Amino acid sequence: MELLQSSVSTLPRTAVRTIKRLQSLGILTYDDLLNYYPVRYDDYRKTIPAISIKDGELVTIRGKIVSFKQVTTRKRMTMQKVIINDGFLDIELFWYNQAYLNNILPVGTILSVSGVAERTLLNVSMKPSEYEVLKNIDDRSIHTGRLVPVYAQTYGLSSKTIRDKILYLLSKLEEISENELELIPNVLLSENNLISYKNALNMIHFPKDTIEVENARKRLAFNELFIRLLSSHLIKSEWKKGKISKRILITRDILNKINEFISSLPFKLTTSQKRSLNEVLEDLNKPVPMNRFLQGDVGSGKTIVAMCAAFATCLNGLQTLIMAPTEILAQQHYKTLSHLGSKIGINIALQTSSHKDIKKTKATNNYQIVIGTQALLSKDFKMDNVGLIVIDEQHRFGVRQRSLLKNKGINPHLLTMTATPIPRTVSLTLYSELDVSVIDEMPKGRKIIKTYVTPEQKRANGYEWIRNQISNDNVQAYVVCPLIENSDSETMTSVRAATDVFKHLKDDIFPNFSLALLHGKLKSREKKQIMEDFNAKKYQILVSTSVVEVGIDVSNATIMIIEGAERFGLAQLHQLRGRIGRGEKQSYCFLFTSNHYQQKQKRLQFFASTNSGLALAEYDLKNRGPGELYGTKQHGYSDLKIADIMDTKSVNIAQTAVKEFTDNYKLDDHEYLKSCIESYQINQIARD
Ligand code: ADP
Ligand code: MG
Repeated sequence: MELLQSSVSTLPRTAVRTIKRLQSLGILTYDDLLNYYPVRYDDYRKTIPAISIKDGELVTIRGKIVSFKQVTTRKRMTMQKVIINDGFLDIELFWYNQAYLNNILPVGTILSVSGVAERTLLNVSMKPSEYEVLKNIDDRSIHTGRLVPVYAQTYGLSSKTIRDKILYLLSKLEEISENELELIPNVLLSENNLISYKNALNMIHFPKDTIEVENARKRLAFNELFIRLLSSHLIKSEWKKGKISKRILITRDILNKINEFISSLPFKLTTSQKRSLNEVLEDLNKPVPMNRFLQGDVGSGKTIVAMCAAFATCLNGLQTLIMAPTEILAQQHYKTLSHLGSKIGINIALQTSSHKDIKKTKATNNYQIVIGTQALLSKDFKMDNVGLIVIDEQHRFGVRQRSLLKNKGINPHLLTMTATPIPRTVSLTLYSELDVSVIDEMPKGRKIIKTYVTPEQKRANGYEWIRNQISNDNVQAYVVCPLIENSDSETMTSVRAATDVFKHLKDDIFPNFSLALLHGKLKSREKKQIMEDFNAKKYQILVSTSVVEVGIDVSNATIMIIEGAERFGLAQLHQLRGRIGRGEKQSYCFLFTSNHYQQKQKRLQFFASTNSGLALAEYDLKNRGPGELYGTKQHGYSDLKIADIMDTKSVNIAQTAVKEFTDNYKLDDHEYLKSCIESYQINQIARD
């Protein structure tokens, strides 16, 4: 297995530039390269004599070069004209601006070319999509005359180069036996009709037919899921072995107090809030640390569940730490929770880089809840008495954060919360080390946000309607501008685009209203000021880029315009729309779109038809297209390479296999698998 761990820099006859490019793709070892799978295959299998080729046919032709000519075209391009003969017929091949071919294709060379042929009565010609030089006319071909693997071509690496390198590695693999290269026990493979790992690697790159592709995919997807699920299983059982450092007991008395608190609320808990709270309280009562994931759409009422858990912790004389992803969200939590906390005598501190309630270490003990960002963990912030940590909107409380806690000598209960709707299979696959609670219903009486797909020609009407609403009902509106580039963070281009929209709306469309512009490049003090002013109704309209914090909570804002809506994923649109519909009044969302492309139109119509985040997430995952701006990675769902996250059947098979493995085998006896698990976990830490 040392072979597989060799660095790609040891690949023979490989340019330094190529090695650098491989590395920038994250391909560091032979193993990485072998597991860099094709994105598709070009079917060049049809190899026939030139005489029987039809016009427009996709074929492979083999022949011997009889002439090479280079000419200059009228457009000042060079054209390489090569004639090959396949024993019966001359075939004319041509390329543009490939002068180097002169050195590669001397007369007499045996050549195999694939591409779409042009055929007149007497002539066959082709501008080859792929070509390769063969030693003998009946040699096995790699780049032509077969199902040819095509790889994602980035950083200037061609598929042809990647193919050559992988072919070399596969030939090296021949020195290793199938058994030696196997990471899964044979019994598990045969039970699930899976081919060997070695065969799978050969077949995924150089399949004979599509059946081989399917078998290879099935096996490699199984690997991916198996490693992931086994790893989660190990993390989970490791976690469960831990002893909680400060016990929390849910006594009858404490339950009564919690119930009293709940009855004092102006509403009744929904059934799923009650269920989730019970699950949390049961966990808290145990001597092992809780690691629970609380999922529920925006507005489903997760905060109250967390607050009850914090209350129970407080009644045990312990503290709760609440961590939000941003300062603004931390402030938001502070606002909501202080209000709730004052009823039950809980003191709450806000501790962020710009606001520090706790200045002296000793003062910590005056507070039962401390709210901040994750910086709380790494700072030399002392917390001896923490019993519970609540993490909002940080899906993975990574291994690294956990070890920070360990270093501080505490082993508390963890409750992670998310408003990102996560379909069940996704949960099963990606978060199987967590126990999951789902709030899958909205509080009663919540008004559904009315959503309209608004094409360009209706824009003016839309503005007019909004003008009236704002004037008559005294409500406020958001205008969201699209992220212009395919980037996770805000770019200057996006800021500039938002600025343009802002000016146009301010000067030409809503001259009688006051408008503000919010974007990520503003200082956090400025952002805070703008949001406070918006909340205080100093502005009627807030124009913002899409990456601006989701935590705005202004119940008087009931209108949202989303510009360039077709550029967003449904999950993102859902997040954005969640900023309205927070008050008593009916809310409205307008999806402005200039794009009439059918599929996207359908997508937006579907969005307009439902307020369920889960339904939207499932739709997005089922209908995702390759290379679209709203890929699954943007959801933070998945970095799966080959397994399909929506394929419940495969996930279940892998899950069963993991169970069988952990029941009957020892990981220590399976060194290769163990090393795969270890490197998977190291990658996970790197991602945190
Ligand atoms: P999220 O799950 O997005 O964090 P919140 O906890 O902030 O949602 O709750 C959204 C709003 O709904 C809050 O104003 C909260 O007081 C209210 N709320 C929570 N639970 C209920 C309920 N069962 N019935 C009515 N309103 C509720
Ligand atoms: Mg919330």
